[in-house]
Amino acid sequence: MTYQLNLLCGCTIDYERGRMLDARGVTFCPLHAAAPLMLEACKMAELLFVSIFDVYDVDTKNTVRKLRAAIAAAEPKEVE
Ligand SMILES: [Zn+2]
Repeated sequence: MTYQLNLLCGCTIDYERGRMLDARGVTFCPLHAAAPLMLEACKMAELLFVSIFDVYDVDTKNTVRKLRAAIAAAEPKEVE
């Protein structure tokens, strides 16, 4: 018997009682499906801003700060 867990974001997880979950049973919502792509896009945009725009310009500083905050929030945390 297969069960389905519906998460608030729209992701669904199919599972069987007593069996470990694995990635095959996960159907991602649009936001979580896009998340890895958005992380890579943020990294590319950060490199672009730092390399071609004036890093002393306030708008560039703010954009780079936001991109770095988004990247830091999405990266796995290091375990100490
Ligand atoms: Zn989701």
